[in-house]
Amino acid sequence: MADNKIKIVFVGHVDHGKSTLIGRLLYNTKSIAEDKIKDLEKNTSEGKKLDFAFLMDHFEEERKQGITIETAQIFFKTLKRDYVIIDAPGHVEFVVNMITGAAQADAAVLIVDAAEGVQEQTKRHAYILSMLGIKQVIVAINKIDLVDYSEEKYNTIMAELTPFLSELNIYNVTSVPISSTDGDNITERSENTKWFTGKTFIELVDDIEGSTDESNKSVVLPIQDVYNINDQGKSKRISVGKIEAGNISEGQSICVLPSKEHAHIKSIEKYNETKTQAQNGECIGITTDKPLFIERGNIVCSVNHGLNMVSNFKASLFWMNNAAVNISDKLTLRCSTQEVGCSISEIFQKINSSTLEKIEDDLTGLNKLEVGKVEIKTKKTIVISAMSAVPALGRFVLLRDNTIVAGGIIIE
Ligand code: GDP
Repeated sequence: MADNKIKIVFVGHVDHGKSTLIGRLLYNTKSIAEDKIKDLEKNTSEGKKLDFAFLMDHFEEERKQGITIETAQIFFKTLKRDYVIIDAPGHVEFVVNMITGAAQADAAVLIVDAAEGVQEQTKRHAYILSMLGIKQVIVAINKIDLVDYSEEKYNTIMAELTPFLSELNIYNVTSVPISSTDGDNITERSENTKWFTGKTFIELVDDIEGSTDESNKSVVLPIQDVYNINDQGKSKRISVGKIEAGNISEGQSICVLPSKEHAHIKSIEKYNETKTQAQNGECIGITTDKPLFIERGNIVCSVNHGLNMVSNFKASLFWMNNAAVNISDKLTLRCSTQEVGCSISEIFQKINSSTLEKIEDDLTGLNKLEVGKVEIKTKKTIVISAMSAVPALGRFVLLRDNTIVAGGIIIE
C-alpha cells in the first residue's frame, strides 16, 4: 500500500480533551460515516451540545479488545490531503504504545486545557515526542471557552510551554486557542477570539511538512521474510519487506547488508502482480538476478546507501518496565526487522522524564520512566541510520523475556 498520508499523533494530559478534539475533527472534515453522525445526534439530548467524545467510544472498544494502537488508526481528510491519527492513550503506563505507535508520526498535536494549564503529563508527553525525534508540534490550547476566551491565559500557557519545548529541541511549534466542544478556530476563525491572528487548527494541520521527496532518496528495504516458491517448475526466491525509504525499480542495482553482496532487482512483486516500481511505504517482494543469501533482518539498499554498520552506538533510551535495568544486563534489540542480543555498556546521564531534572548520583542503571543517554553494544553488527534520514533504522525497542521494556532513538 502506498502510504503517503501525513501521520499525526495526538497527546495530552487525560481529560484535556483529546477524544473531543479528534471527534470534532472527524465531524468537521466529514470523515465519519453518516450513520455515526446520526448516532452522535441521537446520543445527544435536545438543546445540548454534540458529545464528540462519544464518537471515540468505538475506537476505545477496539482498544479494549486488545487491538494494538498501531492498528487503531483513525483517518480524516481535508481539502488538501489525507491524514492518519495515531491515537496514543494518555496514561504513562501506555507510553509503550506511544513509542511504537508514534514511531512514524510526522507531527504531533499536544492538547492543553486552557483552564488547567500545563500539567506533569503534558511535559512528559512533550519529552517523549522529542525522544521520538518529532520536530513539528501543534499546541492546541483547548477549552478556551472555559476561560472566557482569554488572550492572557493563552499567552501565559504558551510562555511556559515554548521554552520547555525548545529545551527539548522542538522548535517548529505552532499554536491555536480552540474549543473542541463548540468548534472555535477548528475549521473557521472564531469571533470569540478576535485577538488571535494566527491560523485555524485545520490550517496548521495542512501546514505540516511531510517526508521530503522520496525519488532522490536511496532505497532502504528491511527484509521481513524470505520465501522459496515454485514458479512454473522453477524455484523462485522472494524476499519481502516494507520499503522504509526511497523508491525501488526493476533493474536497479542493490546491495544487501550486512553481507555487502551486490545484485540487480529482477522483479518486484505484490499480491501476485508484477510491478516495475514501488515506493516508500509499500510492502513488496523482490527477486534478484543472481542468487543471494538474504534472510530476515538483512537490509536491501541502494549501492550508495549512507547507512552505518555498527556494533555499538549512543542512544536516548526511555525505560518503561517496572523492573530496573543495570549495565551489562542481557537484552534484545529490535530495530526494524533486525533482532540481536545487546546490553547497555555505559550510562552518560539520566533524566527524570516528568521533571526533566538530571539524576546525577546513580549511573549504573535505569529505573522505570527514566531516560538515559546511553551506549549500547550489540552482539552482532547491525545496520542503523540517522533518525532524520531513515526513521525506521534510527529508532529501536529493547526486549527482555519477549516483553518490550524500553524504546529509544539513535543519536550517534
Ligand atoms: P481526553 O481524556 O483528553 O480524551 O478528554 P475528553 O475529550 O474525554 O474530554 C474531557 C472532558 O472535557 C469532557 O467532559 C469534554 O466534554 C470536555 N471538553 C473537551 N473539550 C472541551 C472544550 O473545548 N470546552 C469545554 N467546555 N469542554 C471540553
